Amino acid sequence: MFTTGASGDTQEMSSTIARSHRTNPYLVFTDLDGTLLDEQYRFDAALPAIEALRERSVPLVLASSKTLAEMVPLAMSLNLTAPLIAENGGIIGFPQAVEIPGGLSVAGRCGEFRYVRTGISRDVIRSVSLRLRRQMGFRFAGFADWSTEEIALRTGLSHAAADSASQRLATEPIIWTGTPAERTAFRRTLLRYGIRMLRGGRFDHLMGKTDKSTGLRLLRDVLTVNQDCSAATIIALGDSQNDEEMLNAADVAVVLPSMRTGSCMLRPKAPRVIYATQTASHGWNAEVLKLLG
Ligand SMILES: [Mg+2]
Repeated sequence: MFTTGASGDTQEMSSTIARSHRTNPYLVFTDLDGTLLDEQYRFDAALPAIEALRERSVPLVLASSKTLAEMVPLAMSLNLTAPLIAENGGIIGFPQAVEIPGGLSVAGRCGEFRYVRTGISRDVIRSVSLRLRRQMGFRFAGFADWSTEEIALRTGLSHAAADSASQRLATEPIIWTGTPAERTAFRRTLLRYGIRMLRGGRFDHLMGKTDKSTGLRLLRDVLTVNQDCSAATIIALGDSQNDEEMLNAADVAVVLPSMRTGSCMLRPKAPRVIYATQTASHGWNAEVLKLLG
């Protein structure tokens, strides 16, 4: 379609691309805990950069190990209109205004959002992991073992927030209490059942073979079609192992220092990698504002 040779056409095409690039130069995908949110789950320090993205109509996609039930109120409070990547890419939530791509079927609803499941269900993950624990003596405890009160205690969440956190559809967060060697054995055994174990900020996450990059790739195409971001540069921000594939799939990867150690734990293979010097929402704000110029 670029081969007509008519210079007028070419000029028109270039100016269309330039225009769309000017109005919408980026797509931003971000982790929440330890990246956009600080230890108290606050995002206040990132508000200037969030506002700057809104002014430029840049879609901001939240990508988290959190459940859709936890993410929808957060997206509403930030006035975000983009889809959501929940449970480490296992669940993708679509607001009414965004069309769900053909071939994907709606698995359910959460508030205004319809969701699709991209991988294995939590019921399967739970039954396999609990059977391995029973039969092989692996030592861990997870959301399936805890009451809402215990989840609230371990996460520092309110009772209502802990209830939302327990509404899992595609992943199971656990705390490993065995040795590192036993952890490796458990991880390898799970793989035989198509289940992976990824380290997150606070928990290990048992999940199918999807990750946040599954969501990034799917939504990159969706947002390109829906919002004419064909020239957009993909920026992804994250701090821990469960962000790695998403950062690898981006054009610009922003690594936030771990809140635990204070240093950057990831070395993504993206074309451009930025290592933030401040943690969580402060680092997020500084790096996004710099990127927007
Ligand atoms: Mg994180």
